[in-house]
Amino acid sequence: MRPIQASISFKALQHNLAVVRKHAPNAKVMAVLKANAYGHGLLDVAHALQAAEGFAVLRLNEAIDLHEAGFQQKILLLQGVFDAGTLEITASFGFDIVVHCAQQIEMLENTQLKHPINVHLKMNSGMNRLGFKPDKYLAAFNRLKACVNVADIVFMTHFANADADLTRYQEAVSAPLQCFQNAIKIIPNYVNHAISLANSASVLHHPQTHSDWVRPGIMLFGATPVSGKLASTFNLKPVMQLNAEIIAVQNLKAGESIGYGNRFTATKATRVGVVACGYADGYPRRLPNGSPIAVNGQLTKTLGRVSMDMMFCDLTGIPAAETGAVVQLWGDQVPVDTLAEAAGTIGYELLCGVAPRVTIEVID
Ligand SMILES: *Cc1c(COP(=O)(O)O)cnc(C)c1O
Repeated sequence: MRPIQASISFKALQHNLAVVRKHAPNAKVMAVLKANAYGHGLLDVAHALQAAEGFAVLRLNEAIDLHEAGFQQKILLLQGVFDAGTLEITASFGFDIVVHCAQQIEMLENTQLKHPINVHLKMNSGMNRLGFKPDKYLAAFNRLKACVNVADIVFMTHFANADADLTRYQEAVSAPLQCFQNAIKIIPNYVNHAISLANSASVLHHPQTHSDWVRPGIMLFGATPVSGKLASTFNLKPVMQLNAEIIAVQNLKAGESIGYGNRFTATKATRVGVVACGYADGYPRRLPNGSPIAVNGQLTKTLGRVSMDMMFCDLTGIPAAETGAVVQLWGDQVPVDTLAEAAGTIGYELLCGVAPRVTIEVID
C-alpha cells in the first residue's frame, strides 16, 4: 500500500458536534455531509455523528447509502431533485427535499407519489443562487400547501455573508434575516413551520439565526468557517490528519536543485525528504516553497514544486527522519486553514479535494 492516508478521528467529530450544541443548545442539528462528508468519508462520519437529528447531502445515492446503512435520521437533499423519476424514488425512501424553483413545484404537482414528501422551501435572501425571492415566497408556499404530494414544509434560507468578519457581522446577516422574517410572517400559521437558517458561521456568530434546525458543515470537521480565524479559536478540533511518509532522502550540496523546474536550489548543504503525496492526492500544486509541513512531529517546510505523486520537504533540522518517517500534510500540527490561506483558498476546498486514491481510516 502506498504510504499516504487520511486518518479520521471520531472523537474530534463528536467534540465538534458538542461545540455546535453548546452554541445552539435548542436547535436540532442537520449535519451537512455533502461531498463525501467534506472528503472524510460519508458513512464513517455519519456513524460518529449518530447523535445528530438529520443529515444533509447533495445526491440521491448518498442519501440511499445512509438509509441502507440503517440511519434513521431525517435525510435532506440540499438541491432537491432534478427529474420526476428521482422524485418518486426520493419520496419512496422518505427523504426530505429542498424546493428552490418553480420547476420543482411543477414536478411535485404533476407526479403521483405514494407517500407525501417533506419539503424545505428555500428563500433567496440575497445570495441569488437558489431559492424564491421574498416576494415570491408566499405564492410558492401556497402551491406546495395545496399539493397532495407535500407533507411538512420547513422554511429555509442560506446567508451569503454569515462568515463576514466580526466587526461587520451584524449587518451582514441582520438585513437578510429581517427580510426572511418579513416574508414568512405573511404566511398563514407560519409559527407552525420549522425554520432552518444557520450554517457553521451562523452557528458560531449569529445566535439569532439558530431557530429549529442548524445546518453546520465545516465546523464539524474542525476547520474554520470564518477566514482569518483559526478553527482552534472556536475550540474546534481537526478531524482529518493527512499523513504520508518519507520515501527517499536526498542530500544536496549548495547549488543543487530539486524537482520539476528546479524551483528550489540549495544555498547550503540541505537534507531533503521526498514525501509520498502529490497534487493527485489533493495537495495543492500552487502552494509555495516554504509551506508548513511536519515530519516526526516536528514542523518544517516544503521545498520545490509539488509533483503529481510526490513532493519535497526540508529535513536539515530533523536528522533522525529517514525513509519511513511520518509526514503530516495537514492536521493538528499543520492547520488545514493555514495551508488553504497560503494556497489562496479555504479549508473546505482542500478537504473536499482529497483524492479517492487516498485511503481513509478511522483512528478512534
Ligand atoms: C454546505 C451548506 C451548509 C453548510 O455550510 P458550512 O459553511 O460548511 O457550515 C449549510 N447549508 C447549505 C444549504 C449548504 O449548502
